[in-house]
Amino acid sequence: MVVAPSMAVDLIQVDKIVSDRGLDNVLGLAKAGVLLPLDQNANIDIAAHDLDQATRASYPTDTVNPLHHSEEAREYSSDSESNDDGEAATEKPKTSEKRRFQNALFSAHLSQRAAKVTKDEMVAVVENANNDTLSVRSLIAKQDSSVIITDPREYQIELFEKAKKQNIIAVLDTGSGKTLIAVLLLRHILDRELEDRAMGKQHRVAFFLLSQPLRVAQSRLTPLKIAHFCGEMGCDFWIKGTWTQIFAGNMVIVCTAEILYQCLMHSFISMEQINLLIFDEAHHTKKNHAYARIIKDFYITLTNPAKRPKVFGMTASPVDARVDPVQAANTRDLETVLNCQIATASDLALLRNAVSRPKESVAEYDHLSRPYDTPLCAKLKSEFGDLEALSRIFSFAREATAQLGEWCADELWRFALAEEESEKVERKMERLFLRDQENRPMGLLDSELVRLRKAKDIVQQWTFRPPTVKGNDISPKVLLLLRYLALTFEKPTDTKCIIFVKRRNTARLLRSLLNHLGTLHLRPETLTGSGYGAVGDVKMSFRQQILTLLKFRKGEVNCLIATSIAEEGLDIPDCNLILRFDLYETVIQYIQSRGRARHANSKYLHLAEKGNTMHRQAIEDVRRAEQMMRQFCESLPANRLLQGDESNLETILGEEKAHRKYIVPETGAILTYSSSLVVLAHFVACLPHHSDTIQQAIYTMSVENRHFVCEVILPENSPLHSATGRPASRKTIAKRSAAFEACLILLQKKYLDSHLLPTYHKILPQMRNAHLALNSKQSSAYTMKAKPSLWEETRGSHPERLFIAVLELETPESLGRPCQPLAILTRTKLPKFPPFLLHLNVNKTSNLLCDSISRSFKIDASKLGQLTDFTLRIYKDIYNKTFEVNERQMSYWLAPIVGDWQCCGTEEDAEKVVDWTMLEHIQQHPEIAWSINTPHDQLINKYLIDRWDGGRRFFSVAVEPTMRPLDPVPEGIPARKWMDSILDYSVSLFSKSRLRATWREDQPVMRVEKALHRLNWLDELTEKEKKVETTCYVCPEPLKFSALPIGVVSMAYIFPAIISRIESYLIALEACDLLGLSVKPELALEAVTKDSDNTEEHRTEQIHVQRGMGKNYERLEFIGDCFLKMATSITLFSTSPEDNEFEFHVKRMLMICNKNLLQSALGFKLYEYIRSVGFSRRNWYPQGIKLLEGKGHNKSGEEVMKHHLGDKTIADVCEALIGAALLSDNSPGDMTNKDMAVKAVTKLVSSDDHNVIEWADYYRLYTKPKYQVAQATASQLDLAMQVEKAHDYHFKYPRLLRSAFIHPSYTFAAEKVPCYQRLEFLGDSLLDMVAVNFLFHRHPDKDPQWLTEHKMAMVSNKFLAAVSVKLGFHKHLRFSGTAIEHQNREYVIEVEEAELEAKGARDYWTNTKQPPKALSDIVESYIGAIFVDSEYNLKEVERFFDKHIRWFFEDMSIYDTFANNHPTTYLHNLMTLSFGCTDYRLMASELPPLVPGGPVTSLAVVMIHDHIIAEGQASSGKNAKVKASQNALKLLQGVAPFEYRMQYHCNCEGVTKEWVGKDGNGLGMVGSAI
Ligand SMILES: [Zn+2]
Repeated sequence: MVVAPSMAVDLIQVDKIVSDRGLDNVLGLAKAGVLLPLDQNANIDIAAHDLDQATRASYPTDTVNPLHHSEEAREYSSDSESNDDGEAATEKPKTSEKRRFQNALFSAHLSQRAAKVTKDEMVAVVENANNDTLSVRSLIAKQDSSVIITDPREYQIELFEKAKKQNIIAVLDTGSGKTLIAVLLLRHILDRELEDRAMGKQHRVAFFLLSQPLRVAQSRLTPLKIAHFCGEMGCDFWIKGTWTQIFAGNMVIVCTAEILYQCLMHSFISMEQINLLIFDEAHHTKKNHAYARIIKDFYITLTNPAKRPKVFGMTASPVDARVDPVQAANTRDLETVLNCQIATASDLALLRNAVSRPKESVAEYDHLSRPYDTPLCAKLKSEFGDLEALSRIFSFAREATAQLGEWCADELWRFALAEEESEKVERKMERLFLRDQENRPMGLLDSELVRLRKAKDIVQQWTFRPPTVKGNDISPKVLLLLRYLALTFEKPTDTKCIIFVKRRNTARLLRSLLNHLGTLHLRPETLTGSGYGAVGDVKMSFRQQILTLLKFRKGEVNCLIATSIAEEGLDIPDCNLILRFDLYETVIQYIQSRGRARHANSKYLHLAEKGNTMHRQAIEDVRRAEQMMRQFCESLPANRLLQGDESNLETILGEEKAHRKYIVPETGAILTYSSSLVVLAHFVACLPHHSDTIQQAIYTMSVENRHFVCEVILPENSPLHSATGRPASRKTIAKRSAAFEACLILLQKKYLDSHLLPTYHKILPQMRNAHLALNSKQSSAYTMKAKPSLWEETRGSHPERLFIAVLELETPESLGRPCQPLAILTRTKLPKFPPFLLHLNVNKTSNLLCDSISRSFKIDASKLGQLTDFTLRIYKDIYNKTFEVNERQMSYWLAPIVGDWQCCGTEEDAEKVVDWTMLEHIQQHPEIAWSINTPHDQLINKYLIDRWDGGRRFFSVAVEPTMRPLDPVPEGIPARKWMDSILDYSVSLFSKSRLRATWREDQPVMRVEKALHRLNWLDELTEKEKKVETTCYVCPEPLKFSALPIGVVSMAYIFPAIISRIESYLIALEACDLLGLSVKPELALEAVTKDSDNTEEHRTEQIHVQRGMGKNYERLEFIGDCFLKMATSITLFSTSPEDNEFEFHVKRMLMICNKNLLQSALGFKLYEYIRSVGFSRRNWYPQGIKLLEGKGHNKSGEEVMKHHLGDKTIADVCEALIGAALLSDNSPGDMTNKDMAVKAVTKLVSSDDHNVIEWADYYRLYTKPKYQVAQATASQLDLAMQVEKAHDYHFKYPRLLRSAFIHPSYTFAAEKVPCYQRLEFLGDSLLDMVAVNFLFHRHPDKDPQWLTEHKMAMVSNKFLAAVSVKLGFHKHLRFSGTAIEHQNREYVIEVEEAELEAKGARDYWTNTKQPPKALSDIVESYIGAIFVDSEYNLKEVERFFDKHIRWFFEDMSIYDTFANNHPTTYLHNLMTLSFGCTDYRLMASELPPLVPGGPVTSLAVVMIHDHIIAEGQASSGKNAKVKASQNALKLLQGVAPFEYRMQYHCNCEGVTKEWVGKDGNGLGMVGSAI
């Protein structure tokens, strides 16, 4: 006898594992709301109080990247909002060791996986290489020789011989070598085929058909060289030519049946061209499975049976284990349909257990006491035992003492005789009395009513105590239940459980009990029937039921105590625990209640009384009954004769023959009723759509004259909206008829080609390319502009006029040293630059102000000479570089300015700004000579230069009167080679010269500050820079005194940073000039400043960040991208009135895709202007003039600088430039002036579909369609009036408004107004823009990732549907079909209820289930409509936004969880909050491709207590983590904390072990099979 694995049931018993004291402890704590002592459970307690905060907390998630960091794993938090070092704080020293161990574990796992992947890749590559190079003949030859048949067993030979003679279905157990028989047969057929071919016969191909794509991928028919195909490989899009090649080049094809079916249907191949059909898992051959269709449509229909190919089926069981057992008996059909005889050579195979089911257990509770009367009951019985109306209560109460315990028995009285209930009792008394009227005097009724009230009084005055777990308060049965619930709900959990009870009163009583003794996290509610109940029964209204279910689905209620009403029909996908408190009575009840738990890790617990044979019998009975059904399916005599005959076949095919068929004349492709379903499904799948939606045709059924009529509604982006089939007697036929009809229309309109393939698919690859062509990793080296072109363009002549710009520190005191403004003089006027921040000192900053003086002045040769000398002196004295004097080649000059320069600036006195006196002085004095006579006060505040060491410069601070040159060097000053004395320290000569040199010993000693070579003032001081000691003591004689005043020197020190930033601005502005855009310099620079690498993947962590570059383009890209989408949507809407939404999407995609932007950018050479490098000390020097002395003087010519840029970076910069153009023209938040941004779009999109130069052009392009301007009907005017009440916009064209509310399913004929799709397409992009604009300006400090995630909430389906309902828009939607109406109604109730319950909380809409898309669509289409009606006035859209949307998003933080609602966060919460486990990690790393050019994939794992429990692979680390998290969740969701701790050896909270049992066996229950 065979017992399927699921038949084995653990018998678990509750022994006296837990002492009464212990249990009381558990339940007592549970009652208080804290299950575990606080100290061990502190974080959970916090979580309970501040869940929101906990949700946002950081958690461990690591990335190991062997490419960059081979030794230690890098750790960072990539998915949480804050990555504070909370982790580090909790980490003990020991943990780093542990982490290293875990890292090593991960590395080992990684290399193992890498090796495996590589091996597969290698095999694939080798196979491909062979296939490509070998000829067909040699392939066949290879096939011949390489078939290795190892020791075929006798039964295999037997079946093979049988298969040679006739068509058979071989029934053999899995693993018994069915495939070998197939290989033998294939070889046999191939031999014959080769003979046939030699004789010049038509070539034929053998097919090995598999039931599902995965099996194609897994199939290992290695001895034979064959081609493998499945739909996932993209063959859906192949064309006839490709297939012809495939058939010509291969003798055996392994593919899914679906593929062969399609090839036959599209007439790529005909049945005559096939010599062998092998059906793997042949039991699928039934109904409309592709196996059956191939036979029915193409095999049987072949008129000459001799031309039919051989058929060989293989299966472990001729019956699909999942089918209805009654149908399964009909194996004869299988034989008939496959035209085969079932054959097996061994005993019948075992059925695989394919059904996923809850894990079942039996929990036994101690003997129940005998029913008795409680004191209350006894008292009542003694006085009122004869009242017939109370008899049922008496009997239930008595029974309850045994089943539930005394407390429940008494509690029953409390509510049975409560006010409301007792009225019912009274009415019942009256009814009973009237029924028996004849026998009783009328006065009796009155006296009985009086007695009843007296009973009520007794109950009301009775003292009810809260329940305890002691004594007889609760029964052992209830005790067991409580215990199980306490352990399951000890922590916050997503577990949902249903407790099945027989009676409504039991449900109600258990709920009361759980309210007292349940845990904090258990939220029980009853779900009972709504029918008429007996006295004391609780009835639920239908509405209550719906609400309860709603709460259950949302998790507000997580424990349903239900009667049989919940056994069927409920759709609760994530319920994972069924407790059968009262056992089922029938097998159906059992199967149905079991079916409620569909979650992967669900459990089904039978509660039974210990030693109760009836209980044991009941459990065994239902199982036996179910097993018998299975055995019935399994029974099949071996070696049956072929029973199918032609007449049987006729019956099966008879129905099919009546159906229409269409043969495409050109190709012979056949459209049948059945195939049309496939053709249509394929067509729909090929329509462009977002990856997160599933496209499918919807079939709706109606009844006409006792026949079914089906209408198929295609997705909204289909060119055909719906088609209606002919009336049919059966639903399935009506459905096919509709599909057939739809296909005919699509054929007729050429949306299907002559091979029944969608013509749209040709556009698809184009779109895919657009999507896929760019990934962030693809990068190339591009030339980079180091200097603005402005300099070079103006060089080459002596300037006649010079323009002045003054460079000035806003708060010079931050520098801590005298400082004076400098002028920069240029041949052309510099633009106005915004102030920018300089980091002058530790925590001291100042803005640099750059004031361009509007006038220029004439310059003569002598003054130019002074300027040149001054400028070159700065280079020489400060940067130690000597340049040639060549005024023609100077790009700019520096000059000191007079103190009151701000008074000057007119044409006449512009030159007075410059301090010519100082210039003259500098020109005449290369240095200031020192002599022993120089007064000490003239030694101070000077700039000193080491004559022999160009790197050593000082600012003099004071003369030290007490120090002498030969004194030892004071301690603490920067060390150098010569430290004998202060004098020695001051000299930099080499040993020999040093000996020769003589110095005065009577010279003073100065205290000086060493000047630092700090050049990048655009960023904060590095840690190293902060620590450098600068004070030292020197003698003046060996040093040179610079003639430059110290204020000029200070400013000149900062100059490299200033000129770098100015040049960056100029380069960025040149990029904008290139596009004809006038953009503010700061925005221009932001737009072309590259982000640090990998920000997308690493989120908060920045890789290779360049210091001091300022803001990068990311935020501008965010808003620019949105504007681009809107701009292109508007032009498409305006210029292509005939296109549908689908074509819009395609055209827009082609315009806005990164590939297109990249192309434009390459045309403009935009890459040259992108700033990818921060400040470089080598790069800031002036170009043009020749460097004679100093570092780098021997370099020849000017080098071409290159930088590596990702394709995506360049495309992103394009979008950022659009954003910059938009922001430049408007004050923050305003979008009035959009012309510049429109122009930017036109330039960067460079497409005929967007050829406009200003915003107003958009409306000029628009021609009002006929439907818009036609006379509005009364109903349309009425609609306009009603909608105006919801939003005060008055429509000039009410028919536009009507269009906004017409669902694609609604017929055009009714009002001659098109459906809302086009308006929705437009409105969607408009709303996006307005929402993004709002977020962008309201949250200036948020990164694009945050913005994107939070924008998702604002434009989400869920939110817009809620708005739709709030505005009452849903009432105006016109549609066909009842499905939409049903969905809408359900959603409207739910969201209105949610709003009501939320009591003003603005995020109420997030808690609903997914709303119907139509509801959110009409908000977008309405926005589109007001935009068009207002002649493209975006302000109207903004007004709608402010009025109806903004309110919800005033506080964006409430949507953090909405934004963070992804698996990684979810997993973290599950681990920490539900399991209280802290020892888990999420790690990711790249798997390097060992096959050159192979794709790089990332592998992520979830590690729990040093064991890898789940992994995920994806193209990026981030996605791999998401997948790994998802996989982990599959394992972990629905697991109770105590089970988790056992399964994953978690000891994070020691206390619970006590309750888990020392033997580690769960509840301490003993397992044994039934
Ligand atoms: Zn743990």
